[in-house]
Amino acid sequence: ENYTADENRYENMEYRRCGKSGIMLPLISIGLWHNFGDKDNFDNARQILRTAFDNGITHFDLANNYGPPYGSAEKNFGKIFKEDFKAYRDELIISTKAGWDMWPGPYGNFGSRKYLIASLDQSLQRMGLDYVDIFYHHRPDPDTPLEETMGALDQIVRDGKALYVGISQYSAKETSKAAEILREQKTPFLIHQPRYNMMDRWVEDGLLNTLEHEGIGSIVFSPLEQGILTNKYLNGIPEDSRAATEGSYLNESQITPEVVEQVQKLNKIAQSRGQSLAQMAVAWLLKDNRVTSVLVGVSKVSQLQDNIGALDNLEFSSNELEEIDSILKK
Ligand code: NDP
Repeated sequence: ENYTADENRYENMEYRRCGKSGIMLPLISIGLWHNFGDKDNFDNARQILRTAFDNGITHFDLANNYGPPYGSAEKNFGKIFKEDFKAYRDELIISTKAGWDMWPGPYGNFGSRKYLIASLDQSLQRMGLDYVDIFYHHRPDPDTPLEETMGALDQIVRDGKALYVGISQYSAKETSKAAEILREQKTPFLIHQPRYNMMDRWVEDGLLNTLEHEGIGSIVFSPLEQGILTNKYLNGIPEDSRAATEGSYLNESQITPEVVEQVQKLNKIAQSRGQSLAQMAVAWLLKDNRVTSVLVGVSKVSQLQDNIGALDNLEFSSNELEEIDSILKK
């Protein structure tokens, strides 16, 4: 049936400025890495995006190879966009990326000008868009000169195919170098997309400081450690979970008894805060203003609603923070 966005969609979401830019991002954004491929349920995918936008989630994050198969998340997003969101294009921030393996041969991976420009052209076609709001280099490439990769990002903006650029998975040092080149080129460098959650804190060791210093925002991926930081694995491994899914990046072997014990303890703290564990994990990331947005993935509408509920309690006492740290100390 036809979709009309909820007229109250901007009432409850909060927005944070992305570094020193004109763009505000919702505290929670939605990622299409999983659950939007050809093997997934199209109507479920569509309901997830409708629920997101109805709740003020204005940012949808994609990449060339999301699926499976590669490209299918963009293609399915394009179908949903055309039917549901076309009228709202100017209310949306849509991103895509290139940097991981996409097509065979030497020009479908890493960071050459050849790969990035061809890949974005393909992405735009699959999604049925004239431009994306953010185009990312998906990971650092040790062999291509950074000047070439950053030059390609600049060209893409000059050609009107992206409004802003970003980088993902770059270290603090690589980020400083990229920022310097992008500044010289006057390329609008908006955002960094690193992995960050209660169990994986590498960004605290320099990257967040670098971003603040450079005036760059951040959007953090796998905020729920792919589902571990939720109540999902408290009593075993559900059949429909990512850990039980062949070929996913989360394996049953990662759900060790030690991890389950930590998660049970964290869950008690969440309960005492009147939150689900997923909500506490999202709130925990947002306590730092250098985190512009938390990029969740969801396989169900109910999970998205749960995660959005995090906004009801974003405050932490120093006691709670210390307890969380002591549970996760290795
Ligand atoms: P999360 O850590 O949010 O994990 C998402 C998974 O957790 C869901 O698919 C679901 O798993 C489970 N989940 C989510 N909410 C709940 C809930 N409330 N209760 C119970 N279970 C829940 O993030 P992702 O790892 O999916 O990453 C999010 C996004 O970040 C991606 O879609 C992508 O856009 C981006 N990303 C970027 C990368 C990069 O290199 N730049 C790399 C990886 C991700 P289940 O299927 O088991 O139900």
